[in-house]
Formats: sequence, C-alpha cells, structure tokens
Amino acid sequence: MAQDRADVLVIGAGAAGGALGWRLTALGARVVCLEQGDWVTPDTMASTSPTYETHLIRGDWNFDPNVRQRPEDYPVSSAGEDPPGITMFNAVGGTTIHWQAHFPRFHPSDFRVRSLDGVAADWPIEYEDLAPYYDMNDGMMGVSGLAGDPANPTRPRRPTPPISIGRLGSTLVGGFERLGWHWWVADQAITSEVYKGRPPCLLHGKCMFGCPIGAKASTDRVYWRPAVDAGAIVRTRSRVREITVDADGRARGALYYNREGVLQEQLARVVVVCCNGVGTPRLLLNSTSNLFPDGLANSSGMVGRNFMVHPARWVGGVFEDEMDGHFGPMGVPLYSQHFYETDPSRGFARGYTLNGERTFGPLSQALGLPWGRDHHQVMRRRFPHTAQVSVLCDDLPEVDNRIEIDDQITDSNGIPGARATYTYSDNTRAMLSHGIDRAREVLEAAGAVEILEPTGDNMAHLMGTARMGVDPRTSVVDAQNRAHDVPNLFIVDGSSFTTGAGVNPTSTIGALALRAADGIWEHREDWI
Ligand SMILES: Cc1cc2nc3c(=O)[nH]c(=O)nc-3n(C[C@H](O)[C@H](O)[C@H](O)COP(=O)(O)OP(=O)(O)OC[C@H]3O[C@@H](n4cnc5c(N)ncnc54)[C@H](O)[C@@H]3O)c2cc1C
Ligand code: SF4
Repeated sequence: MAQDRADVLVIGAGAAGGALGWRLTALGARVVCLEQGDWVTPDTMASTSPTYETHLIRGDWNFDPNVRQRPEDYPVSSAGEDPPGITMFNAVGGTTIHWQAHFPRFHPSDFRVRSLDGVAADWPIEYEDLAPYYDMNDGMMGVSGLAGDPANPTRPRRPTPPISIGRLGSTLVGGFERLGWHWWVADQAITSEVYKGRPPCLLHGKCMFGCPIGAKASTDRVYWRPAVDAGAIVRTRSRVREITVDADGRARGALYYNREGVLQEQLARVVVVCCNGVGTPRLLLNSTSNLFPDGLANSSGMVGRNFMVHPARWVGGVFEDEMDGHFGPMGVPLYSQHFYETDPSRGFARGYTLNGERTFGPLSQALGLPWGRDHHQVMRRRFPHTAQVSVLCDDLPEVDNRIEIDDQITDSNGIPGARATYTYSDNTRAMLSHGIDRAREVLEAAGAVEILEPTGDNMAHLMGTARMGVDPRTSVVDAQNRAHDVPNLFIVDGSSFTTGAGVNPTSTIGALALRAADGIWEHREDWI
C-alpha cells in the first residue's frame, strides 16, 4: 500500500539521518524517516544494569551485529586478507547510541590528498565548505573542549568547557611534553555543564553501553526529538528492502517492511539514503530494476567499492601509580597529531592520530588476561594501572576493499545481508607499524613500567562505499551528495567519504548532512 508522498524520505535515523532530518524539517520540508530499529530508552540501556559489562560481551549490547542478532540487525560476513570486524548499532540514533563521542574534525589537507601527496583522490569540496556546518553541528551536539589547537584551523569557543583529562590524561601529557610532541584536549560530543536541557557528564564511564542521562550526544535526542516536535515523522521497525524508481529513472520512494512485517511503499519527492558505509551500499545493490540492473546509482560500478575502516591499534602501558582509566567518559581525553601530515622520510603517505584512551571496566579487563594461577596477581598489577594510546590511521581508498551482497545470509525480513572484504595496503601497514612504535615511545616517556602487546584491528568506521567526486565514471555522488545517476537521490553518510582521513568520522558525517540538507532545500523548486 502506498503512503502519502513526503517531501523528503530519509532512510536510516543515525548520525547523518538525524542531522539532515532535523535541518530539513526546521527549514520547512515534510520529512518522513524509515528506520529498521526502535527508539532506545534509558531503562533498556545496558549502562543502567549492575552487570552492564556482560551485556557488551555476551550479547544484546555487543558492538557486532553478528553477535547481537537483534531482529533489527542484519548479518555482515567478512573476507579478505584482513577481514574487518563490523560494528554498528541499528536504532533511532544509529551507531551514536554506542559511540564514544570523540569529535575531531578533518584537516584541510584531508580534502586534497591527490594534489598534496599524489595519492587517492581529492574531494570535490574543501574544509572551508564544511566549516560553518562543523560549527552548527558542534552547537547541536553540545561539544565540550578547548579552542586553540595549533594543529587545526581555528574554531569558535566550544559550547561547553573541556572535561577533566584526569590522572590518565595528565600522565600521558607528561610523555608528550617530554618528547616535545603536539597534544591537545579532545573535543567530545559530551556536555561538561548543563547545556540545552542536557545535564553534565557524571564521569561514570559507561558511554558505550548507552548514556542514560543524555550527557553524551546521540542523534535520537539531539536531532530527532526536536525534529519530531517540529513535525517530522519517524517510522520505527521499518526496514527498507529497496528504493523504487519511476519510468524516467527518478527515485519514486521505497518499499519497506513495517513492524508487522507487511510490505509498504513510501513515496517521496526526494530520497536520502543514510544507512552507513555498509547499509547504504547494501540497500543500493539490493535496489535493482530494468533501468538499474547493477544496483541503483551504480553506473560507475563504484557502489560498495573503496570501503574504508580506519586501521587502528591500542597499546597499553602499565604504571606504578593508579590511572583512573575506567572513570570519566570512555574514549579520548586528549590526542596528538604530531604525525598527522605527510613526511616522506617516514616511508608512507598521510598520517595518523595518537589518541590517549581510557580503559573498559574490571570485567572486560579481567577477560583480556590469561586464566590460571597468576590471574589475580596480573589483574591487581594492571587494573587500574593501565593507560592506553591508540593509533588511528588515515585510510586511503582501495578499489578491491568493498561491500557486496551476501546471498547466503539474510536478515529477519529475508533480505540478503552484506559481505565486507578488506586488505591493508602497504601504505597502511607502514603507517600502523610507525604509529605503534610511537605509541610505545610516548607511554615509556610518560613513565610506564610495562608496555603491553598492541590489540585491535580497526575503528569500526564505515566509509567510502558511495564516494563523492566530480567524475561520474569514478564516483557515485557529486559535491552536494547527489547521486550522479539519479537526480532526486542523495547519499549522505560515511559512504560518501572520498578518503577516510586520520580522525574519527562522525563530526564530518554530521557536517556533510547539514550541508546536504541546505543544498536540497535551496533547490526545492526542482523537486518539492
Ligand atoms: C563502539 C563504537 C564507538 C564509536 N565511537 C566513535 C567516536 O568516538 N567518534 C566518532 O566520530 N565515531 C565513532 N563511532 C562511529 C560512529 O558511530 C559512526 O561513524 C556514525 O554513527 C555513522 O553515522 P551514519 O549516519 O553513517 O550511520 P549510523 O549511525 O550507523 O546509522 C545508520 C542507520 O541506518 C539504519 N538502516 C540501515 N539500513 C536500513 C534499512 N535498510 N532500512 C531502514 N533503516 C536502515 C540503521 O538501523 C541505523 O540506525 C563509533 C562506532 C562504534 C561502533
Ligand atoms: S560517562 Fe558521562 S557521557 Fe558517559 S555514560 Fe556516563 S554520564 Fe554519560
């Protein structure tokens, strides 16, 4: 059954969908959003349970949809020489329910890597195009931090002051200072004082299990609630099977299963896909038709290709003194971008961020240790004496790293899942190795008495699979996030990234979404 035609249909209510849906509603568009998950309320968050860590490890709050297996999740298999672990959350708010809210921005150089370093491709936009939207997004998300970082362009006073970097942060600062390396207090999308009705952070270290008080920004609260108050419609438990097209090759709307499992069609003048770097190519590749036999918006063959994840490693240092690693927001109190820009003498292009990282709680840490006679002794030595430094590498696109449809696995509506194939490039391997050595160096300089083996593989950032560019033969969307092949179809999430940069992606995803919303509104005569 077809439903009333919306001005704008947003598919996916995560980081991108929230920012875009709010902005277009505020401008005056009639927005309908289809989201396969539900609203998440504080009473259902693992963080409110005394056994919160077991929910992460055993099941319903695991980062990996293949482990979680909630009805709203879909399966993703992994392949390649370095098969990626896939992490995401499917709900109103998307993966910002789970995230750590570390909120760095791209550098201006990240948009020009071909011109500057001869690698990958330049974005068709520049930092300055996004700057006002970064600021707008910071204001909505209630970012805490400190302006003035010499490694980045100037930005306005942060909406709330920085959160204390604590004993762990101060210890790492000692290391960076001793080595003469850049460091700065991190921007976090976490309020440090009362801000727009949100309370300050309680520093109780359970952010990835859901923030029950809303100090951590998630786009369900920050964007969707005001959007709904202003008239936006969010249909939850509504999983889109395919985007439909009319005889002229324009997007007509979407076929979706509602919460009763009944197939419906939502019509719209403009369709915007915001399903993340895996869900978006999955949906486009599942949307085949006579006009688009290889999937929607895929005349270039680039839908699903150039998958980027941010290769990363965590290096732990054990200190004589107690660190307060499991207090304060999980994530990043401070970072160094000393090795961010290209230095040819290092043997690789581009660079990485070193993040000071807090640690998980006692159960997760105990499970990471060997069992047996020495377990308690090792646990006493390491917990809570450990501080971590993570290496987050710029991920440059490789055409064979990709998302495809995996017909062998299906979601709860019988729709085929996805397969993620990923192999590190030589550039990435050299960068990771350099970064791990520097992480060890700074921990030693900070006074660590033992350096632990690096752990982890990637940062769960899903990017690049419907990339932005000027040439329709090599990219999927243009500088306004509009599909080259379909005039009223927009793709606005991490999949539209041309390159991955050496920082977490979500402030850039939000800024792109706000900018795309303004572009859609500006050209509303064409479609609304
Ligand atoms: C544990 C963890 C920690 C993280 N920490 C950070 C951090 O500190 N800083 C940072 O910048 N980033 C972080 N990230 C990444 C960040 O959460 C993502 O970059 C961001 O949420 C991606 O936004 P998005 O809009 O592209 O997708 P998402 O937020 O994933 O939203 C996509 C939405 O689309 C919906 N959807 C998908 N397919 C369909 C369909 N067919 N029909 C209907 N709905 C559909 C999904 O249910 C989901 O709600 C973290 C991620 C994880 C897993
Ligand atoms: S530490 Fe702060 S942001 Fe994290 S869950 Fe607790 S109150 Fe929320």
